[in-house]
Amino acid sequence: MVKMCKKHDPKQKNQLIALFFFFLYNKPMEYQGKATLEKITSLAKRRGFVFQSSEIYGGQNGAWDYGPLGIELKNRVAGAWWKEMTQLHDDIVGLDAAILMHPRTWEASGHVENFTDPLVDCKKCKSRFRADMVPEENLAAKKCPECGGELTDTRKFNLMFKTHIGPAEDTASVIYLRPETAQGIYVNYKNIIQSNRMKIPFGIAQIGKAFRNEIVTKNFIFRTCEFEQMEMQFFVKPGSDDEWFNEWRKRRWAYYEKLGVKMDHLRWHQHGPDELAHYAKDAYDIQYLFPMGWRELEGVHNRTNYDLTRHTQFSGKDMQYIDQDNNNERYIPYIIETSAGLTRNVLMILCDAYDEEQVADKGNDDDWRTVLRFHPRLAPVTVAVLPLMKKDGLAELAQDIRRELKEDFATDYDQAGAIGRRYRRQDEAGTPFCVTVDYQSKEDGTVTLRFRDSMEQARVPKQELAARLRREIKEYKRVK
Ligand SMILES: [Zn+2]
Repeated sequence: MVKMCKKHDPKQKNQLIALFFFFLYNKPMEYQGKATLEKITSLAKRRGFVFQSSEIYGGQNGAWDYGPLGIELKNRVAGAWWKEMTQLHDDIVGLDAAILMHPRTWEASGHVENFTDPLVDCKKCKSRFRADMVPEENLAAKKCPECGGELTDTRKFNLMFKTHIGPAEDTASVIYLRPETAQGIYVNYKNIIQSNRMKIPFGIAQIGKAFRNEIVTKNFIFRTCEFEQMEMQFFVKPGSDDEWFNEWRKRRWAYYEKLGVKMDHLRWHQHGPDELAHYAKDAYDIQYLFPMGWRELEGVHNRTNYDLTRHTQFSGKDMQYIDQDNNNERYIPYIIETSAGLTRNVLMILCDAYDEEQVADKGNDDDWRTVLRFHPRLAPVTVAVLPLMKKDGLAELAQDIRRELKEDFATDYDQAGAIGRRYRRQDEAGTPFCVTVDYQSKEDGTVTLRFRDSMEQARVPKQELAARLRREIKEYKRVK
């Protein structure tokens, strides 16, 4: 664990203070990027990232479908997180628990009792609101903010999706869609200690779907009823939890930096006493500056020994850890949780990558390009192969090159339309590299490698293409 160095001299301290204020005051308070949610939603549909669920029936609120580019992007965002959490950490292992869990799980976790939103309904227009989102004067006067009709009293509404398992729809068959992936980890923690000989401190990582019956506002895929989480639960000895909490805050912050995210669009938000969940001792959110403002991207929580203590009570099973290296000392571990939304991360990456740039001065639409500046490791397509012409054997040569690159890279092939238009299409899909095959390629076996961000081009022998691409991906630095 990293400890703060205590030997700062006063000069260093002043520099640190200056640095702190530099960063504090250089954070934009309002979004100044070129993305709007309307533009992102429209691009996402146009290019096959994200579609409205069941659109032909008018759409299903709170649910979205990921198209061909969207699923690739989502898989890469998930893959980057998974690699970071498991491959790069010897003390973290993976798990994929079921969405359907024994209903007692949710009594133990407190979700049956506490996982509620205060709601009011309008008796006239039937609109439903979260009480804390209704202006106070309307709430006091019981007056609908939409139509002026009468509002009901505030009721507590549980956010878990409830359904039935088996043929009989009675109270004995009630089951829930999980509202968080964390509990699947807690109920398996002893299995994993035994099967994989894990010793505290250690973590369990999981990516999976979760469901919350929330009133969904208009922020595209930011908040949805069906969503995916990327959660890691880190089991530590009581007393070392504060130190690990700080350590995980540091690691998660560094992760986004590595991902190439605009760091001036990230900040910490500590939960105040009225925001803290019932199980939490301390909680910080990493917030991202979305076009609609600062919003939570990921939470780092000290969940104490609450969950495992409750599972001990409700299951009757001993959830204590036995420390065999320390005279069989027994304790219920504390848990530090890092909880990120996968689908919310996808929205963040889309907004973060979005750019519009003037690239010519001819006075028409072609002067501007829309470009998604994805990190090459996240881009749905890594390299597109484009023959300058369809004829004279260029298409065949380009297809050969694509076939060779396919094993190692996500590729696309496009021979339709003017080459400039094809570059623009790839820019809009966020493809970092284009390979163009022209007449010179036939003569000397070289191709043009075109870079998305700078639009610069280099002549590369085709047998060196794969190695060159690997190097470009590894050394990629975002410039804008
Ligand atoms: Zn109304």
